[in-house]
Parts: sequence; C-alpha cells; structure tokens
Amino acid sequence: MTRAEAVRYIARRLEPVSDSAREEARIIVRNICGTDTGGIFLDQSELGADDIARLEGIVERRLKREPLQYVLGEWGFMGFEFTVGPAALIPRQDTETLCEEAVRLIRERGYRSLLDICTGTGCIAISIQKLTGIKTEASDISEECVRLAKENANKNGALLTVRKADLFEGAGTYDIVTANPPYVSDADMEDLQEEVKYEPALALAGGSDGLDVYRRIAKEAGGHIAPGGVLLLEVGMGEAEAVAALFPERGTAVIKDLNGVERVVRIDF
Ligand code: GLN
Repeated sequence: MTRAEAVRYIARRLEPVSDSAREEARIIVRNICGTDTGGIFLDQSELGADDIARLEGIVERRLKREPLQYVLGEWGFMGFEFTVGPAALIPRQDTETLCEEAVRLIRERGYRSLLDICTGTGCIAISIQKLTGIKTEASDISEECVRLAKENANKNGALLTVRKADLFEGAGTYDIVTANPPYVSDADMEDLQEEVKYEPALALAGGSDGLDVYRRIAKEAGGHIAPGGVLLLEVGMGEAEAVAALFPERGTAVIKDLNGVERVVRIDF
C-alpha cells in the first residue's frame, strides 16, 4: 500500500463515522509517515508493516468515535503544536478568534500582563505568550491540566507560570484576562456528539443554562483586571448577549468567529 492508497483506504473506513473522512485520512497518513500532503502524493514507496499496524490501530480507535486529536495525541492551534489528552478540552479553531483578539489588543494598547483561567491544555495562554511576549500566568482547577499546560509550555518554549486554582483564587491584577470556561447547558450535555463525550465534562458542563461559570467570573473579576484592561470570554452559540448582560456597568463588544457565530465577548474595565 502506497501513501496515496493509504489515504483512500482510511477515508473509506472512516466514511461511516466522519463528515471529513478524507481530510482525517490525510492527517493520519501525514502523522504516520512524518510528511506533508505533498509528500503523500510524491513518495510512491510501499508503507512498512509497522506503519500499517499503526494505521490500523488509529482507524480502530477512530471507529469507536474517539476524537482524532486524542488518538494522535497532539493537535495544532494558532500555528503551534499541543499535546492533547482526555484531561482537557481539545483546542478548537473557534477559540483562535479569542486569541486573535487578545493579540490585537495587546499590541494596540501595550498590555503587559495576562491571566488565562480554565487553561486546560494551555493553548490560549501559550499561543498569546509566544506571539506577543506578554508576561503570562495560567491556571486550572484540574491538577492534570496544570501538568499538561506546563508540558505544552515547555514543548513550545513559552515563558509562563501555570498553577492550580479555581478561577481567580490566588490571582493578582492583570491588564487582560482570558477564559474559555465550560459553557454547555445541562440539556445540551445530554445530546453531545459522540466524539465530544470523550472530552472532560469538567471542561464542558456549565449548569442549567450553561452560564454558571460566567456568573462566578462576573462576580470575581473586579479586583483582578486593571483600569483600562479587558476580560475576553469565549461563549457558546447564542450565549453572547446573556454573558454581556452579566456586566451591566461595563462596555462590552461581541466578536464573531470564522463561521459567523458570536463567539467572544469583550468586557472593558
Ligand atoms: N466548544 C465546545 C463544544 O461545544 C464547548 C467548549 C466549552 O464548554 N468551553 O463542544
């Protein structure tokens, strides 16, 4: 089996469980062969037995609906590679919107300190730190996420401190605070896509209306953001207005993601 044949074979196997079977097949072959897409189609040599065994192992796990990201153990976000695992939410393209806005504000306004709460893999804090050099702290309530975020900081050569904390517990004052907190409502938790069920409920479940953690953030943020600073929150589909309304005394703005979904709420302090 050549690399190109492997792509066709994997795509056919994954067809029943994936809307993007061909794209996934390419990613798997690139990962196994350590090549780019061009390399898949240029190199016409046969795959070795070890590669075919790895390929079969990946396909079998994927057929059980395990997310491709967990099967491969790493995933790209904002141009950086992150180790991923079931302790933390998978970095999603939706969340790049929040990072883009943070980078823009840091550059325009000269912000000098960042805190990212609910950091998970650390993908938000690490990307922003790498892109701007801002002094960065990250925290998560999960010990395993703290370990994972530290690993990812080392892997990417990012300079930041990561600690275990529940939201603003032990935090100082920052120019910018970012968060992608759990925001899935109880009703939606009952109806998750099979792949999302592999992700930690701790990172997804936001209570009856999905907004429980935002309410806590709204209550606690006050002392931790400097005057002229901002709070940037990722929100679920249809939640932007309700999240902005949790900050009645402050100016707010809503930013859409690449799919046109209202995805980030900016609150001005
Ligand atoms: N974007 C995720 C989903 O809907 C949820 C992420 C979160 O709760 N922060 O699958």
